[in-house]
Amino acid sequence: MNRTRFAPSPTGLLHLGHAHAARVAVARARRDGGRCLLRFEDIDHTRCRDEFYAACEEDLDWLGLRWDGDPLRQLDRATAHRAALERLRGLGVLYPCFCTRREINEEVARMARAPHGPEGPLYPGTCRQLDPAERRARLASGAEPAWRLDAGRAAARCGALSFRDEVHGGIAVEPGLLGDVVLARKDIGTSYHLAVVVDDADQGITHVTRGEDLLPSTHVHRLLQVLLGYPEPVYLHHGLVTDTAGRRLAKRDDSVAVRHLRDSGMSPAEVLALLPGLPPSCQ
Ligand code: GLU
Repeated sequence: MNRTRFAPSPTGLLHLGHAHAARVAVARARRDGGRCLLRFEDIDHTRCRDEFYAACEEDLDWLGLRWDGDPLRQLDRATAHRAALERLRGLGVLYPCFCTRREINEEVARMARAPHGPEGPLYPGTCRQLDPAERRARLASGAEPAWRLDAGRAAARCGALSFRDEVHGGIAVEPGLLGDVVLARKDIGTSYHLAVVVDDADQGITHVTRGEDLLPSTHVHRLLQVLLGYPEPVYLHHGLVTDTAGRRLAKRDDSVAVRHLRDSGMSPAEVLALLPGLPPSCQ
């Protein structure tokens, strides 16, 4: 049976962009008689607030966007995230990174041709080249590192990969598109990329629907799925909701919060009518 999920971070009120993402996830599941799960992506717990979990559920309910089963909180999944990290470490595709953000920026500024990705400069690989003895000494000194994916090694292990997207078609994986991403942050021991891949697999998600701003991330996620022996989901990266000037909605723009539209007297149908149409595979 098909399974999708809506995976918001409870860092603010649900806005029209979230409502569109939720509607796509629900519609894609229902079209084939499948299930849509709700998952709170709250690993960055310092940015999440208790009231936003409940507000999200209430707003989805008010819009008539129903999910199946109990919502999952990623914060409760730390053991699974750690276990996956250990497996990747065992495969030799991770390395510890001791760089601070400032050191990375300085290194990028020093380089004549720093590698760039879709969202700006990539990690220049400083700690990948660290001498093994130096690496051991730093780890032994108790310095808490971040753990990065060695994209080159991961690609060599996986060979050529691709994914299928119901909006964008077949896409060949570019393993280095986002560089050596962080899979475990120093402060929280996990990351968006690791948690999303582990949880999608454990929740049996067959169709990953999400905004097209996350399309570059899928290149990393396919690598992780293969390394961890997970099944390959189908993807659907939908267009983003923009404001009247064509700009992507800011997360903290309360004027487009579902709750405020509701308080202004709009009905659920009127709010849903503000959203873009559904992609063909959801109809
Ligand atoms: N938590 C992400 C967001 O709120 C969505 C992640 C995903 O769907 O993979 O944008």
